[in-house]
Amino acid sequence: MRYSETGVNLEIDLETGNIERVRTDPELMHTLLGGLGTCVKILWDRTGPDTKPFDPENPLIISTGTLTGTPAFSSNRTIVCTISPKTNLLAYPMGGGFFAPELKYAGYDKIIFSNKSPGWVYIWIHNDHVEIRDAGHLLGTGAIEAQDLIREELNEPNAQVAAIGTAGELKSLIATVEMGRGSASRLGAAAVMGDKKIKAIAVRGTKDINLYDGPAFVEHLREMRAFVEHRNANRLSNKYIMTIHTGVGSPQAMEIVEEKWHTTAFAWGNARYRRKDFWTDEIEEAWTKIQYGAIQRFISCYACPQQCGALIWHEDDPPYMAKCFSKLSYLFGAEVEDQHFTWKILSKAFRYGVDSFSTPQVLAFAVELRRDGILSEEEFAGTDAYPPCPPPEDKEGVFLWLLDRIGRGEGIGRVLALGTKAASEMIGKGAEAYAHNLTKGEEQMIIKLGMLDPLYFLMFGTNEKQSVPQIEGNWPQDAFKEYEDRVEWVKDWIHVPHERFKQYFLDWNPKSREGGENMNPHYPTPKIASDIVDWMEEAHNYDDSLGLCCGMGGFCLKPAYHVHNYYKFVSAATGMDVDEFQLRKIIHRSRNLHRAFNLRRGMTRADDKPPADHWRHRFPELEEELLTTYYNFKGWNDDGVPTRLRLEELDLGYVADELEQLGILKKVNPPTREEIKKWEDHRTETWGY
Ligand code: SF4
Repeated sequence: MRYSETGVNLEIDLETGNIERVRTDPELMHTLLGGLGTCVKILWDRTGPDTKPFDPENPLIISTGTLTGTPAFSSNRTIVCTISPKTNLLAYPMGGGFFAPELKYAGYDKIIFSNKSPGWVYIWIHNDHVEIRDAGHLLGTGAIEAQDLIREELNEPNAQVAAIGTAGELKSLIATVEMGRGSASRLGAAAVMGDKKIKAIAVRGTKDINLYDGPAFVEHLREMRAFVEHRNANRLSNKYIMTIHTGVGSPQAMEIVEEKWHTTAFAWGNARYRRKDFWTDEIEEAWTKIQYGAIQRFISCYACPQQCGALIWHEDDPPYMAKCFSKLSYLFGAEVEDQHFTWKILSKAFRYGVDSFSTPQVLAFAVELRRDGILSEEEFAGTDAYPPCPPPEDKEGVFLWLLDRIGRGEGIGRVLALGTKAASEMIGKGAEAYAHNLTKGEEQMIIKLGMLDPLYFLMFGTNEKQSVPQIEGNWPQDAFKEYEDRVEWVKDWIHVPHERFKQYFLDWNPKSREGGENMNPHYPTPKIASDIVDWMEEAHNYDDSLGLCCGMGGFCLKPAYHVHNYYKFVSAATGMDVDEFQLRKIIHRSRNLHRAFNLRRGMTRADDKPPADHWRHRFPELEEELLTTYYNFKGWNDDGVPTRLRLEELDLGYVADELEQLGILKKVNPPTREEIKKWEDHRTETWGY
């Protein structure tokens, strides 16, 4: 019997219509867990260095995680994994809600789509019944509308549906896959879904998921429940951290109105300038009225008590679900203060199915190009199909007009739909300089600061997700000014992988104009910064393999899940006899395979860099040292390639062979057992396990 996973993948060849239920190798869970880990392995095996994102051979994988669908808190992520048409590297955006648990209840760990459908289709999965259905009549429908229409058509009100809107149909690289209470947004994965002509996937499942040791699992859940209840009743102090981060769960941006930190620390317009005095009592009063007027009720994803999402029904616009940073991103981009605008534009954006993180940056980029004459007024003229763009002073009107062009694939919208990098290259005439907030081709957080921060330098530069909010988390964003507050913080910091992290934190001083010891950019030192970033990466890799929301784990300060308890849930759910350290080794195996996948596709050290203008004060030598130290800390060479020794230790000798064949890794003799043991001893000494 298989536990926690179903042991079955659904393989759908869209060209032939062939559908197969394929039993998976149980050993894979022991080597790579599931979720992201096994997705990367499938991509590694089935694609080559030259496979292009829109080649039929590029699979589109809709995946659950190992714990998805179990009663574990927030075990609900749907992982959409493919080669990104935006970066040409691995993409794995994830959405919350209920889709992935339902897929597991139907009896599948993953759906793997290969090739392309000749016509538009949607997939209907009802336990063992799997059908490819015509979707011609759904073309042109929005991502939310399509979900409702499919449920009606199937007469299955409880079906979970993941759908693309018109942006995905048009292969926009900023399109999303929308799924009820979640959306998989980043890196253009929805464009691959559109390219394969899959409008939607509907699923209804009524089977069981087996737990290996139910009583032990429930006991771990009880402990976690007590922790969550305690934290909900006793939030962290907001003296140094954002109010929306003082609880567990994803940022409580729907419940809490106060946004002083985001609105004053983030950059407005096309990620250009800060408004340090933005937050006032008047703004707070106005936003409270509007926000609470728009929210119908708070809602959660599957198996989560945190209700960080909200059902929004604002004025006459169609309702939708919102959470987190989307509350602010369009306001920042358009440089407007009226929160009515947020709820209005989000309603449109969700229907078109576009990413609330990248899209506002794309729109702000277009506004700048218009202002500076790089896009001529002709691009903003009307046609028989649509009106002319409002004048620049009507900032809201311009944003709504531009969004309509992208969502409908009209005029300049067809170019902007490719994201700022590809759009700037098509436009030319110096537009490239305006696409300034990118890492590896993906739009980044809209932050522009003064002094280089070594932790964020590494996170921006090296994380494979290309999205810092999905890699940072357990470590506070800034140092605490008062030493006593640091002492207080570390007292119940059970989440650190090792006691040494507490000392790192105690020693860390905030930036000061007067200068001083142990502050950015030279502290955390390259070695300490590598240690901290490695921990944060690791936490996110657990979440992504297990199918957990990072709001309860990797992205949260003092979270419910942490490196000392993931293994307990895994053991009780799957029957894998692993302790904390054995599970960490599996996670590192998956991380290294992921890195190797991207290196095989041509990524190099030169790509590991944050946006050039992220900080005003840069330190090229220190930055090189940070990168090299981080690489070596991970067991990678100075080019950022995992060494054969590291790969052999992780049982990834086949990866080393291929990297050597491709000339990415210099050929060396396989290490002896003694050499591997020596490295393991070094690792234990350095990392504490
Ligand atoms: S913390 Fe929020 S986003 Fe995460 S699973 Fe819970 S309700 Fe969903």
